[in-house]
Amino acid sequence: MAAISRAIRACAAAAGWSGRGMASSAKEVAAAGARAAAAVARRGRDPEDGRRVQWVFLGCPGVGKGTYASRLSQMLRVPHIATGDLVRDALASPGPFSKQLAEIVNNGKLVSDEIIINLLSKRLEEGAEKGELGFILDGFPRTIRQAEILEGVTEIDLVINLKLREEALLAKCLGRRMCSQCGGNFNVASIDMEGENGGPRMYMPPLLPPPQCESKLITRADDTEEVVKERMRVYHDLSEPVEKFYRARGKLLEFNLPGGIPESWPKLLQALNLEDSGNERSAAA
Ligand SMILES: [Zn+2]
Repeated sequence: MAAISRAIRACAAAAGWSGRGMASSAKEVAAAGARAAAAVARRGRDPEDGRRVQWVFLGCPGVGKGTYASRLSQMLRVPHIATGDLVRDALASPGPFSKQLAEIVNNGKLVSDEIIINLLSKRLEEGAEKGELGFILDGFPRTIRQAEILEGVTEIDLVINLKLREEALLAKCLGRRMCSQCGGNFNVASIDMEGENGGPRMYMPPLLPPPQCESKLITRADDTEEVVKERMRVYHDLSEPVEKFYRARGKLLEFNLPGGIPESWPKLLQALNLEDSGNERSAAA
């Protein structure tokens, strides 16, 4: 996968990557992707045999995709690579780059595609050195351009699009609480909704804190109804073309979460033709 990450960088560079906004055409990006992929093929380094899943998780912030991606990654023995974690790790490491990054994040701006690509490339390189044979990406690709770059350099087997009814998602986001002392994450929302169109009831129990945290709970400043709704709108604007991109390639699996983890997990495994039997015997994709 070192070849892949080198190719991603080469591709980003060849596309004249200059962050969000200054887009070169999709055609140029695709051409750059093709060149980069050809370079990978010439090197002949990508083992097709014995590789494991290369999956992508899509889903609105708060839908819980990190939880499901993480569980699947353990089951399938591939790393769960969340771009949010990559950004947090980069912020925590000393140096001028983290200062620059902190400025972007603290001003509430989106981290540019270029920075995300670089962080992901570095992560894939490190993984390849450790012998990783696949991945589950979470939070990437976020934009259509990222999807094009990714397609140019490596095969994505399956894209799982996690969805949750909007009222449930909103309630879940507004119910988030953090303990100001120990940093624990909880959720006070108790969701119990009538089924849509005669469907089954949706029930998601709260995740309540232990007694010692109860009096110390705080709400994140950006978890107000207005901000959460805006976050959803921004997410949908960006992700719709990405979903369309993978749907057109027959790689998009739409999955409507029927409720909390106990109900959703077995149904998700079923949709993926996986069995949670403790061995990794794998997938339908
Ligand atoms: Zn606590």
